[in-house]
Amino acid sequence: MAPNVGASNFTAVRAPAAQGLDVTAATITVTVGAASEQRTFYIHSGLACNHSKAIVKLYHKPGDEGRIIRLGEDDPEAFEMFARFLYSGKVHSRMEGDIDSDQAEVYDNEWPRLTLGWRLGDRLQSPSFKDAVVDAVCEKMQNDRRYPVSLYQDIYPHTSAGAPLRRLIVDIAVWKWHAHNFRATEFHGSWNDFFRDLAVRQFEIGKEGRKDPAPFSTPNCIYHEHGDDYPCYRTMF
Ligand SMILES: [Zn+2]
Repeated sequence: MAPNVGASNFTAVRAPAAQGLDVTAATITVTVGAASEQRTFYIHSGLACNHSKAIVKLYHKPGDEGRIIRLGEDDPEAFEMFARFLYSGKVHSRMEGDIDSDQAEVYDNEWPRLTLGWRLGDRLQSPSFKDAVVDAVCEKMQNDRRYPVSLYQDIYPHTSAGAPLRRLIVDIAVWKWHAHNFRATEFHGSWNDFFRDLAVRQFEIGKEGRKDPAPFSTPNCIYHEHGDDYPCYRTMF
């Protein structure tokens, strides 16, 4: 007999049939990456369109062309994370051998993978995937007890003012950086916005405010983009 795993604790397993995914709809073929590294993905159109406004536009182009979407400039590994997220609600970002401790400082390959994922979500206009990636960043910090000190270099040049990921990166610096992190940092013109946002946020929070738990230490929607018009991805799976 199977063990009673959480038998007294029902989660929301039932859902209205009318809200279920249309699994009879056509699949979309998506080719991703430049010729030498191109990969092909097949995903249900209803699911892809539910999570990406950009795919809606590409899919509904006149003619049959919409059945094949070509994303020649995007990263196949990042798209694989997006496609897997569509079916699981999880960000499959961890890989064996991600930590490279042979370097002078520990280098963790999962960070750039998450950054690429968020940028792809931005191009695909997918608030749900972006929000899930932000949560993955928060979960990673919580589990590893390590806080990134150079992600802004990757994120700021590729995001716009007010992007939730920018706000998270600034808050990590406000709550977790120490003076030596600032002394060791490099400066470059394309990172000016980061240091300006950081200075503003430092003043807003103040020394006393920094004693409060960091806003990213508990799950919430403050770094999410969905707003009131779009459901939180956590309610979609
Ligand atoms: Zn949310």
